[in-house]
Amino acid sequence: CDMGVLDNLVANTAYLKAQGGDDRELKKRRRSLSLPKPEECMITRATLEKDFQLLCERQPIGKKLFRQFLLESNPQYVAAAEFLDELVDWDLAEVAGKDKARMNIINKFCKAHSKSFLSYLVGEVADKCKAVTDKDFEDVMNGKVKDATQEYLKGKPFSEYQNSHHFDKFLQWKEFEKQKITEKYFYEFRTLGKGGFGEVCAVQVKNTGQMYACKKLCKKRLKEKDGDSMALLEKQILEKVNSRFLVNLSYAYQTKTHLCLVMTLMNGGDLRYHIYNTGEKGLEMNRVVYYAAQVTTGILHLHAMDIAYRDMKPENVLLDSFGQCRLSDLGLAVELPGEKLKGASKDGYMAPEILKKEPYRMSVDWWALGCSIYEMVAARLPFKDYKEKVQKEEVARRTLEDECKYDPKYFDEGTKTIIALFLKKKISARLGCRTKNEDPRKHEWFKCINFPRLEAGLIEPPWVPKPNVVYAKDTGDMRDFSEIKGVVFDQKDEMFFKEFSTGAVPTAWQQEMIDSGLFDELSDPNRKESAPGLNDK
Ligand code: ADP
Ligand code: MG
Ligand code: MG
Repeated sequence: CDMGVLDNLVANTAYLKAQGGDDRELKKRRRSLSLPKPEECMITRATLEKDFQLLCERQPIGKKLFRQFLLESNPQYVAAAEFLDELVDWDLAEVAGKDKARMNIINKFCKAHSKSFLSYLVGEVADKCKAVTDKDFEDVMNGKVKDATQEYLKGKPFSEYQNSHHFDKFLQWKEFEKQKITEKYFYEFRTLGKGGFGEVCAVQVKNTGQMYACKKLCKKRLKEKDGDSMALLEKQILEKVNSRFLVNLSYAYQTKTHLCLVMTLMNGGDLRYHIYNTGEKGLEMNRVVYYAAQVTTGILHLHAMDIAYRDMKPENVLLDSFGQCRLSDLGLAVELPGEKLKGASKDGYMAPEILKKEPYRMSVDWWALGCSIYEMVAARLPFKDYKEKVQKEEVARRTLEDECKYDPKYFDEGTKTIIALFLKKKISARLGCRTKNEDPRKHEWFKCINFPRLEAGLIEPPWVPKPNVVYAKDTGDMRDFSEIKGVVFDQKDEMFFKEFSTGAVPTAWQQEMIDSGLFDELSDPNRKESAPGLNDK
C-alpha cells in the first residue's frame, strides 16, 4: 500500500543519511566526553590479566600505546618496534616494492654497525640475522628473528611498559570500555533482515557515529523454542573470532525484551541476491575468484580455532559497502577440539559424509564451498537446478551417486578443476582435507590473488555496491513476529540473560575508538572538554 511505500522510503532515507556521517549532533556530543580519571582505574589495574599477546598485540589501543611506549624508550626498543612495522610493510609490498623493502630491512637491522641493529638478539638467532641473505630472508627474518623479537618484548619491555604513563592511559581506556551498554547507546534504523528469533536492524553508536547491524533475539521466543544455549554459543564464537572475513561482534547487551548482538554492518546484500537478482544469472569470474578467496580465508580462520562453520552457502556471505565479503550467521558453527560430529548443514549443500551419517570435522565446509563456487558461476547447485522441484531424498541420492556436470557455457577448465576437487565424495581426496591443514589457497586457481594483501584489505574489490541503494527487502515485505503469550522468566533465565550481556567486546570496541577518531580526540593533551553534565549517557 502507499503508506508502506512511504514508510520504506523514510526508513531508507534516514538509514542512508546516517551512513553519510558528518553530523553536528555527533561533534557536540563528543566534545563533552572524557576518559575515566586515573584514580578510578585501580580495580582494573589490579584485576587486568597481564597477558602480553592480548594487551599488546590483539587489542588495538593496547597495541598502539605499547608501540608508542617502545618508540619513546631506548634505541633497542625503538629498533624492535620499527623492525616489526617494516616487516609488515615488506609482507604487504607488491612485487615492485618487495626487493627494496627487503634490502632496507637487511641494511637497517641486520648489520652490526647500523644504529638500528637488533642488538637484543643472542646466540644462533643473532648469527642467522647477521648472515641473512635474500634467499633465506623470509625464513630467517619473518620466522626466527620475528619470534625472538616478540619473545624479547614480552620480557623487560613489557614489564617496564606496565609502569609507564602509556599504560596508565591504557587503563583509562579499559575502564571506559567497561561502561554499561543499553539501547540508549545507539540510534536505531531500519530492519535489514529477519532471522529465526527476531529481526536484524541497522544501528549507530551515538558517541562515534559508527554503524553496525544489531541482531535482536526475542527473549520469550528463545525460551519457548529452547534457543538459549544456541544463542549463547553463537555469541561466544562471534566474540572469539576476529577476522576481516567474518562478521565480528562489537557489543552484546540486553533490553527488557531482547538479547542483542551488535555486529559488523554488511549493507551490500548477500551473495545469493547478487547471483540471482541482478540482471544476468551468475557472477563474473573475477568476482567469483575474489569472493571465493575471501570466503576461503574466513573458513580457514574458523578452522584454525577448531571451529567448523557448517552453514557455508551464498546466502550467508554478506557484502559491505566497499564490496568485500564476510561470512555471517555463525548459529550452526561449533567448536570441535579433536572430536567428530554428525548432522547439520543445509539441503543441497550437504556433503556425502553428512548424508551417510558418518562422523566428520572440517571437511563439510570445503564441500559446501565447492557447491557455493559452482552456484556463483552457474546460478544453480551442482545437484539441484535453480527452483527445481525435487525431493530431499533425490538431492541426497544425486549427491552420493552422480558425477557433477559442468556446462561449458559457464565453466572454464581451471574453475571446473577446483570445484571438482572440493566436490570429491571421499574426504581424503577432497581439497582442504588431503593433508593435515591443507590450504586450498595454494591451488593454481587462486594464483592471481595476493593473500597477504587481501588479508590486509588492500585489494580493490572487483565490484562496489551502489551507495544510494539499500540492498535489503522493503521493510513492509518482512513479516512481523507473532505475539508470544504465557512465557515467564525465572531466576535461571535472568542469570542466562546476564551471562549473555557482556557489553563491549575489547578488540572490536578499541578498533571503533581508533577508526572513529575518538581515540585521537581523547588522547589530545590540548583538548578542552565542554561543560561536564552534558555527558549523554
Ligand atoms: P538467523 O540466524 O536467525 O537466520 P541471521 O544471522 O541469518 O539470523 O540474520 C537474519 C538476516 O538479517 C540475514 O539473512 C540478513 O538479511 C540480515 N543480516 C544478518 N546479519 C547482518 C549484518 N551483519 N549486516 C547486515 N544484514 C545482516
Ligand atoms: Mg540466517
Ligand atoms: Mg542462524
